[in-house]
Amino acid sequence: MRLGGSFTLSSGLPAMKDYYLQCISCNSVFDEVVFRCPKCGGLPIFKYTTGKFIIDKSKPGMWRYSNYLPRITNIVSRGEGLTPINEVEGVFIKNEKFNPTGTYSDRASSLIASYLLTNRVSKVITRFEEDFTYSLAYYLNGISEFEVVVEDVIALNTTEVSSILEMNGKLVMRVGSPTNYLEYANPLTVEGLKTIAFEIVERGVRADTIVVPARSGVLAYAIYKGLVELAEAGIDAPYEVVAALVRGEAVPNLLKVCRGMKFDEVYEEEILNAIIRLSKRGIRTKPLSALAYATASNASSAVAVVTMGFKAIPIHRSKNDSVRKEVCRIVREAGRATAYEIWRKAPIYTLRGIYKLLNSMERRKEICSEVVYRGNRKVRYYRMCE
Ligand SMILES: [Zn+2]
Repeated sequence: MRLGGSFTLSSGLPAMKDYYLQCISCNSVFDEVVFRCPKCGGLPIFKYTTGKFIIDKSKPGMWRYSNYLPRITNIVSRGEGLTPINEVEGVFIKNEKFNPTGTYSDRASSLIASYLLTNRVSKVITRFEEDFTYSLAYYLNGISEFEVVVEDVIALNTTEVSSILEMNGKLVMRVGSPTNYLEYANPLTVEGLKTIAFEIVERGVRADTIVVPARSGVLAYAIYKGLVELAEAGIDAPYEVVAALVRGEAVPNLLKVCRGMKFDEVYEEEILNAIIRLSKRGIRTKPLSALAYATASNASSAVAVVTMGFKAIPIHRSKNDSVRKEVCRIVREAGRATAYEIWRKAPIYTLRGIYKLLNSMERRKEICSEVVYRGNRKVRYYRMCE
């Protein structure tokens, strides 16, 4: 069976007893899994009739909520889900960087890979999308053939392409504009992403708002859906969803059907500000995540869903302390010294290790540097800061 040519999968499906699918645009109901509404092209979503919310802690990560996920007999789990919730300057952060490929997409990929394996789908076609394709490449490795169609080669991030190829040596990439393919916005993605809401509720985070960055709106929709399902199952899920948008951007269609969802428009200056504030704390993030953080820091108590790349720069201070002191001593004595000269006097690390250490010391203003030109050569000297 191929996924990408036809989206209707009916053979080999486990019986759908406790759920059906419904198109969010025209409300058509389907008793089989469809990836696009055949009537209007809208997004079909799973509707559960189970009624009881069960957490099965014997299952890995987000699969503990299997009772509110599509029936899967072969789970493909690579450590996704159960990401940490930390507090940064009074704002809770649901940190999705701690998924295997560093993004929330892994929740969707785990579900998609499991679904494909369960239904023996041998080939998948997708359109290249940053992060999502990367994550899928990792999860589909060894599960099914994977063809990635690239629409704009010039805009490709080649670093990501290399990583994708490392993740999955068998995938095929080609240029084109696909018509029938597995889109990011599909019913399984929604099911995977909604588990973020389940985890926040299970942890009982003391906040009243969940702030989600909204671009396509899929993530915000999924979190909203998760909260609605919990409420319908009688679970206390007292959070309001706020979709954070870049000022001037339209509300995604998907979110217009969400009753009670709030929207917050954020100025680009505020996003940049949030990026700077987080950077100063050693936290690197992508603009979309900073957008949610900016909105959350204006709310009284909020959880910001940080979707990716929220990386703390590792600081091995205690380990390096004596080496740092030694480096400072050498530099102070010499007045100024190159990395090579420092290394010759303190060959405790490799030369490469010394370069790394000097870089981190400079970032923290423990040491300063200047570049001197000698003919065509550039020489960097380290000295104590004034
Ligand atoms: Zn429809």
